[in-house]
Amino acid sequence: MINLRDLTQQELESFLASLGYPAYRGRQLFRWIFARRVSNFDEMTDLPQDLRMQLSRSAMIEIPRMADLSPKAPDGTRKYLFELRDGCHVETVFLPGATGQTVCISTQVGCSLDCVFCATGRMGFYRNLTTAEIVSQVFEIEKEEKVRISHVVFMGMGEPLCNFDAVMKAAHLLSDPTGVGLSARHIAISTIGIVPAIERIIHEGMPAKLAVSLHATNDEQRSQIIPVNRKYPLSLLMKTLRAYAHVTRYPITFEYILIKDLNDRPEDAAALPHLLRNIPVKLNLIRLHPTECNLEPSSEERIVAFLEELRAAKLNATLRASRGLECQAACGQLAPKEPCLKSSAFDSISTDLANLSDDI
Ligand code: SAH
Repeated sequence: MINLRDLTQQELESFLASLGYPAYRGRQLFRWIFARRVSNFDEMTDLPQDLRMQLSRSAMIEIPRMADLSPKAPDGTRKYLFELRDGCHVETVFLPGATGQTVCISTQVGCSLDCVFCATGRMGFYRNLTTAEIVSQVFEIEKEEKVRISHVVFMGMGEPLCNFDAVMKAAHLLSDPTGVGLSARHIAISTIGIVPAIERIIHEGMPAKLAVSLHATNDEQRSQIIPVNRKYPLSLLMKTLRAYAHVTRYPITFEYILIKDLNDRPEDAAALPHLLRNIPVKLNLIRLHPTECNLEPSSEERIVAFLEELRAAKLNATLRASRGLECQAACGQLAPKEPCLKSSAFDSISTDLANLSDDI
């Protein structure tokens, strides 16, 4: 059965046309679903009764079940566990703040990239989320927290650019001014650096900011902690990002986890301005959050020194606050204990990096 949260305004218009209704009914339905966040056809009072009956027979607005939620951290951060229709689970994080309400959403159940520092990577890959499953995380958190979300970051479980079509459609739905209506500047999609997908974004555009998980200044270092760097090495990635910056004229956010004795030395700080030359940059330093890996976080002293070295080199750098540690909801810590309840979901397990470009 068709899930209406999967459809753009145009697709809803075509769907209603196929049921014999004029286009404006599709626009009305779009506003009910995405602007007013209504999921019950009975509440869509300006749609004719016969249409509502037909919709309840031939379509649905499927809502992931909230299976668990953590206690609120002192700053209000909270982790949610959603159970999807096939028994798979994803985690989502709500981050309230003085300047806006942010949700950090997942795009895959697990991840195929196996970055050594990331708990999601350690789980392996189960499946991609659908567009409806991606946007529903925002709506369900709004309902529970009784807020309107102003910012969405695609920084939860999974590699967004390995689920390209569903993620781009979700970004379009979140930014459509007649629907959810978020500013594209308030949506960020974070990637490890899937080069063919970034090339696609250069050609097709994207209603979101791009963030890149850099974490190293040379290939030897980066391949040690990010296996996919062997497929898309730094020189190729940086060349593609320079082209992105040139074409879009948008700044790129770079994320850089500070790992003791691996990438936190003065020579790494010195290498960064050169690596990021000719790109309008915001560099976010991140403390390494505890996961089951044998890397250690840099000392606070080293972190401060690293930041100062970057600032002295006139790089626009900040240290990101590590929110959500109290509830295992910080960057890199998302990994449900039971990713999928039913065995069928395991059929799609694949950690085969060679197939990665098939995903986009
Ligand atoms: N796959 C995407 C998005 C998910 S990760 C990406 O790689 O960008 C979101 C952010 O959390 C990334 O910057 C990631 O590198 C970071 N992260 C992962 N594990 C971490 C850890 N243990 N400590 C701190 N940050 C981590």
